[in-house]
Amino acid sequence: MQYIDVKGVKVPALGFGTWAVSGSGAYATTRQALELGYRHIDTAQIYGNETEVGRAIRDSGIACEDIFLTTKVAPSNLRAGAVTHSHEESLKRLGLDFVDLLLIHWPNPDVPVGETLDALAKLRAAGKTRHIGVSNFNVRLLREAVERHGADLLCNQVEYHPFLAQRAVLAATRRYGMFLTAYAPVARGRVFEDKTLVTIGRKYGKSAAQVALRWLIDQDGVAAIPKASRREHAAANLDIFDFSLAAEDRAAIDALAEGDRLVEWWGYSPDWDRD
Ligand code: NAP
Repeated sequence: MQYIDVKGVKVPALGFGTWAVSGSGAYATTRQALELGYRHIDTAQIYGNETEVGRAIRDSGIACEDIFLTTKVAPSNLRAGAVTHSHEESLKRLGLDFVDLLLIHWPNPDVPVGETLDALAKLRAAGKTRHIGVSNFNVRLLREAVERHGADLLCNQVEYHPFLAQRAVLAATRRYGMFLTAYAPVARGRVFEDKTLVTIGRKYGKSAAQVALRWLIDQDGVAAIPKASRREHAAANLDIFDFSLAAEDRAAIDALAEGDRLVEWWGYSPDWDRD
């Protein structure tokens, strides 16, 4: 495993996403991921699977200190009281006293970001989360959070894969000493349709998904959290530490981005940075 060192914290650069798995499926895929060696797990209030993810972690026998767990506050819970209450409910579902990272899942234009950040900071001070961060924040919102409100944030989680350049937001995330978590890192399977990624993969005996993941986590301060319910997919996504991409291959992947964004949430998506 490769790690990101950020603000004195060691975060496994390759994590495991749990969106769109629920019930026994969420339990089974999380257990499987932990058995395979994942030590960074991503869930959220709105995924409806915190109970199963928490149970899988507890049943795994792996010490909680050895797993980096992220959950996220839903955009409908961003008023101060709701942040606190909904996170207490998350912890109950997870069966844990705290998480490693608590994120604002999506910005909510109806709630002042300072109010939410203050509530998150209080949860951190109370030991209910080790770190706080944001997700789906553009450069303007990041600036507001850090420069105007003085928030000490660890992470911005955004969509990032070879078809969507995130230069501006990545630069801002680094400027504020944070790391960026790439969600939808294999572009929900679209990487397999890309000839460049497939051809580069052949050269190394790797798949297009493995090439995309390696390309992501080799970038300074970038983590990736692919979701894979199939065991062979989850195992393959972890099998990316025995090769490195040549400079010309990295450059070819850098050139693929055409602004193909897969994830939007109308009413919450901010004015995305175009680059
Ligand atoms: P993704 O990880 O890019 O793609 C998941 C899809 O790709 C699944 O259908 C999976 O198939 C398939 N796949 C993964 N690895 C594969 C492989 N090696 N070979 C073939 N197929 C493969 O997309 P995502 O789930 O949207 O994003 C990942 C995680 O990011 C989510 O689960 C969630 O935790 C997080 N996320 C966060 C936000 C946010 O707003 N913060 C938004 C979206 C996602 P199988 O499941 O069949 O194996």
